[in-house]
This record gives sequence, structure tokens and C-alpha cells, in this order.
Amino acid sequence: MLLLNPGPVTLSERVRRSLLQPDLCHRESEFFDLQDEARSRLLAVYGLSPAEWTVVLMTGSGTAAVESMIASVVPEAGRVLIVENGVYGERIAQMCAQYRIPHERVVGSWMEALDVNAIAARLDAASAEKPFTHLSVVHHETTTGRLNDLRPLADLCRARDLSLLLDGVSSFGAQELDFAHGRLAAVAATANKCLHGVPGVSFVVVRRDALKQAASRTYYLDLGRLAKLQEQRNTPFTPAVHAYYALVEALREFDEEGGQPARFRRYKALAEQAREGLAALGIPTVIPPEESSVVLRSYHLPSGLTYAQLHDELKAGGFVIYAGQGDLSKTLFRISTMGNLATGDIDRLLTCFANLR
Ligand SMILES: *Cc1c(COP(=O)(O)O)cnc(C)c1O
Repeated sequence: MLLLNPGPVTLSERVRRSLLQPDLCHRESEFFDLQDEARSRLLAVYGLSPAEWTVVLMTGSGTAAVESMIASVVPEAGRVLIVENGVYGERIAQMCAQYRIPHERVVGSWMEALDVNAIAARLDAASAEKPFTHLSVVHHETTTGRLNDLRPLADLCRARDLSLLLDGVSSFGAQELDFAHGRLAAVAATANKCLHGVPGVSFVVVRRDALKQAASRTYYLDLGRLAKLQEQRNTPFTPAVHAYYALVEALREFDEEGGQPARFRRYKALAEQAREGLAALGIPTVIPPEESSVVLRSYHLPSGLTYAQLHDELKAGGFVIYAGQGDLSKTLFRISTMGNLATGDIDRLLTCFANLR
């Protein structure tokens, strides 16, 4: 069975076999070697300097990393403007509400590019007594496959001295990310999407100076404490040791294959192969390719077919696709090209589509 859902992904044999290494106590030096290797390889994905940035690992899925980032990197006196154009942006707003972090939302259409002028207007409308300190956005909105353009948002932050917090869960490792833009403070991501590890470990890449002002609103996901202990080759709790084995092996494989630029090219080729093939069968994408990620695309559900029917027919052919979220499941479906997939797999997928009854 090949997984075309947006994580967990189809593993390579090499990563799958890495799960069968010796039992390991997380208080032994072998575990801390693994933790150190994961952290340094993750920094190297975008060539970041360890003097400026650090990677903080935690046990949990991608949502844990986003929650840790929001609950920690926004300082006690912080105030967040959340840019929302999908389910994952909504989730950030729910986290702010849960932790009682002062915030507002600027809600855009899920089907259109972000309205940068509206975002700027909201930032400027904030009162002088209560200015925003942070802007948060989802890089790749997996709800629709839209890749949000970060450059104009980072520029807004620079002009107003704000920090940018990014949910990069479904883009980290595949899409370009401009860490050199001074306003990016932190990116949350996970092992089991574009990096091809297994679920269970996620992480935040955070600027060291942003960590200095971090708040401590959560116990388990306290980024400051996790960072401090990891820097000392330590860990507060029992990590998902096997997920660390897989992450490190996946990162070695990632580096040998050519890193982020290579992963981008590979995903792009597969995503375009699927898009062209489905278009030829009369199944167009919902969002134009130039506004989409290379990681996932959403497609109009062919008329006369429910999602459940499409799903079951493709599953019988060996492929798991993904529904649209909520009501969108009535009109669209999603195909991710993450994971250990090759051109021949997409050929077979397209044959399954062509043979749909
Ligand atoms: C997958 C995903 C998450 C986190 O999902 P988990 O199920 O917790 O791993 C968060 N944000 C985005 C954009 C995602 O695609």
C-alpha cells in the first residue's frame, strides 16, 4: 500500500529497518548521540548557524511542535495576529485561546492568495497601547495545498518590528524557507512529513534570542526547558526512542540524496506528473500550480463519484488518498507526493484513475 495522504508517509526500506535497532535507554550516551545527530542534521537542512539558531525536539506529532512554539515563543506580554486560510491556521487560533494568549485573527478565503493589504491594515489598526508582537502563519496550508507567500509577510514584520512564527509542518525539508530574513523567529515541523521519518517526534527550529524571552505556559511542551536540557545532552521525559532512530536514518538518507533542493525537485516532478495526468482525464486541480506547494495538491472530485467511492477504488489498487477537510470532502480530494514514491508509482496511480468505473 502506498500512502498519498499528507503524513505519515510511505517509508524507505532503510528507514523502516532502522526501527529494528537495539533497545535503548534514553539515559544512556547512545541516546544522546542520536539526539545530537538529529538536532545538528535538522539545523543543516537549511544551513543554519548553531550560534544563531537551535533545534528543540519533542515527542508528539506536528501539532505538539506548533503548540510548543505558540505557548513558549510568544512572551508573557506578547500579542499575536494569526493569519488564517485553512484548518491549520484555525488550529493556531484555538491554541492561543486555550493558553489565553492575547490574539486576533485575520481570516482569508481558503481558495484565494493571502490579502497582504488586509493583513497590513489589521496590524496598523492595533492600538498603540496594545500593539501586536507576533504574526503567525501556516507556510503550506495542507487544507488546500496552497503555499502561502512568506516574503510580503516577513516584510510587514520587518517594517513594524514584529516576529514571525511559522507552522512549517508540511513544508520543512521540501520547500524553500528564508531563514536569513531577520524577522523569522521560529518554525515548527515534524519527522513524518517531508523528512520521511515515522510519527512520534516533532521539533521547533528557533532563534536563540527568541528563546531567551520565552514564556512557560505549558509543562510537557515547555520549549525553554526542552532546549536547555537538550543542550546539556539531557532530556526531561521519555522520548519516542524508535522514532528518533527513524528520524536520524531518514536525515542521513535525505542528505545523501541532495538535501532540500533535491527533495523539492523530486516532489515537484511527481506532483506535476500527477497533475498533468489527472488533467488529461478531466480532473483539474483546485488551486493553480503556481500557488500550490510541491508537497500536496487538491483536485476536484469527478462528478458522479463520492469521495468514499473514489477512496475505496484507489485503495483496492494499492493507494491511500486523502479527503478534503470537513465539507470540502464533498467537492475535493487530496494527493500528496511525500514519502518514498517514484515516477512508476504515479504511472500506476494514473492507470487506476483511468480505469475508474
Ligand atoms: C500535518 C500538519 C500539522 C500537524 O498535524 P499532526 O497530525 O499533529 O502531525 C500541522 N500543520 C500542518 C500545516 C500540517 O500539514
